[in-house]
Formats: sequence, C-alpha cells, structure tokens
Amino acid sequence: MGIAVGIDIGGTKVAFGFVDEKGGVLAKGSLKTDLSVSPGEMITRIADAVKQLAEQNGLSFSDMKGIGVGAPGPLDTQNGKLTCPPNLKSWWDFPVVEALKSQLPLPIKMENDATAAALAEKWLGAAQDSDHFIFITISTGIGAGIYLHGKLLTGSTGNAGDAGHMIVDPAGGVCTCGQAGCWEWIASGTAITRQATELLGRDVTSKEAFQLAAQGDSQMSELVDRVFTYIGMGCVSLINILDPDKIVIGGGVSQVGEPLFAAVQSYVSKYALNPSGRQTAIVPAQLQQDAGLIGAAALIQQSY
Ligand code: ADP
Ligand code: ZN
Repeated sequence: MGIAVGIDIGGTKVAFGFVDEKGGVLAKGSLKTDLSVSPGEMITRIADAVKQLAEQNGLSFSDMKGIGVGAPGPLDTQNGKLTCPPNLKSWWDFPVVEALKSQLPLPIKMENDATAAALAEKWLGAAQDSDHFIFITISTGIGAGIYLHGKLLTGSTGNAGDAGHMIVDPAGGVCTCGQAGCWEWIASGTAITRQATELLGRDVTSKEAFQLAAQGDSQMSELVDRVFTYIGMGCVSLINILDPDKIVIGGGVSQVGEPLFAAVQSYVSKYALNPSGRQTAIVPAQLQQDAGLIGAAALIQQSY
C-alpha cells in the first residue's frame, strides 16, 4: 500500500530499495554504475534488480505508491533528464524518467540528490523541527538542498542549491566547471585531497589530512583551518541570502565532526549579517546510512 521505491543514482553506484511510510527500509540493494554500458542498459539493469528485490521480499507493485529518483545535477527535472553531470558523461541528456517508466509501472519523481537528501533530513533527520533550513553535502563535490517556508525549493529545472559553484575565492584556481574560485574547488573532499597532496608531495587522502592536522602537522593544520574558513564563508553567504534557522551538514568530510562544526559555527557567529543569522545552528546530518535511498523515497512519501 504505502511503499515507495527509492533509487539513488551516483557516479560509482546506484542504491535502490523499498521504504515504508515511516521511513523504514524494507529491503535494499545496489549496483555498480557501469559507465562502459549505455544509460539505457543501466536503466534496464536497475529496473530488473528492483523487480527481483520486490519478488524476493514478496512485494507487489500494486503495493507501491511510486518511485523517487535522486540524481546528480545538473539535471532537468521538467523533462526527466540529467543534463551534464560531470561524473556521468555518457548519461548527458538521456531521458532517465521516460526510460524507467517504460519498465516499471509507477509514477516517478526525480530531484537533485542533495535536494532529496534535504527532504530526508526534514522527514527523519536533523531538521525535523525546522521549516527553514539548508542541507549541505561536503563530499566529492559540494551540493545543497534548500527548504524554506515548509517547502523544498527546487527552482525551475531542479537545479536550485548548486552551491558548490558559488565563488568563494577567484584566486583559488579554476574549477572543473570552468569558473575560477568555486566553493567545491576549494573546500570539497576532492579539493582537500588535492591540496594536501600538493603540499606534502605525496598521495594524501582528505581523511589523512585531517588526522595529520590533529597530530599537529603545521602544513595540514593550516590547510584544514583554511578549508574550515571557506566552509564558513559559503555558509554565511547562504545564510545572508536565504535566512535559514539551521544548516545541516553531511557528506564524507562532515565525518570529521566537532572541529569542523565548531569552526563553522564560530565563523558564522562572527560574520553573518543579521544578529539572528549569527545564531544559525550548524549541525551534522543524521541520516548517514542509506541517506541517498531514503532521500529518493522521501520524494514519494513526503509532500514538497
Ligand atoms: P560521495 O561524494 O560519493 O557521495 P562521500 O560523501 O563519502 O561520497 O564523500 C567522499 C569524499 O569525502 C572524498 O573526497 C573523501 O576523501 C572525503 N571523506 C570521506 N570520509 C572522510 C573522513 N572520515 N574524513 C575526511 N574526509 C572524508
Ligand atoms: Zn565550479
């Protein structure tokens, strides 16, 4: 009856599953995103895997309300396409929603993955008590989902919240998008890895960079402090423009925990323009496991 299918399409894997009206994951699976096959073939694999999972769990499609799809931007939710996500080049302009619809007999809603994750944090996570918040994921890139006045803000084509390409420092180098100084070019997990590797002259992961900083390495401490400041700057711009009462931060880099949240909270408390903005709570996301899948299912289970 009240079951939603969630499908989270990513550059490395596709997570899918069945989620009930309370957010419980009834069954789930995942597939490697195989970029050597066409997106049409990948959609067939996903649809087959979803059908098989339903069968194995004794679920029928007549029990299901619809399919929610979370996908990386840039995309075009009006036409059900991914337009030009950098990690899924072979999918550019492919009509994902139409292809899925031809194989699975259910209504489909698709949104940007960060937008879907914001809805999941509202539903079951760190933003349940808030009607005005921003969800930020600091991971391979940086993305945001915006929830204001009790509603998701998606924009005309589903691309609202592409905060990773907001400029924080034009002198910081040219981003993969071609513009100089983007937030994600300077403060994402990929950016931390790149800068740490350049500084130490050997391969260093973002996690190791934080560990070295915690052990007192001066170059890594400087890098980490700089990155925290840049994360704070991005948050202040978002606070000044959108006036949320809370910012929820998730993604791999947020695993660093307290040092990051304390530094960003401190930056915001100094530089947000309005006194109320300076008190914006900066909190960790609560949905870690299955966040993408639950976010996708939230598009069906929650009104937005
Ligand atoms: P995805 O971007 O595929 O959603 P993640 O949210 O796990 O994946 O983000 C991956 C990025 O986060 C990588 O750049 C990685 O270096 C960084 N990262 C993952 N875990 C940690 C950690 N514990 N500490 C710092 N950085 C991390
Ligand atoms: Zn950019």
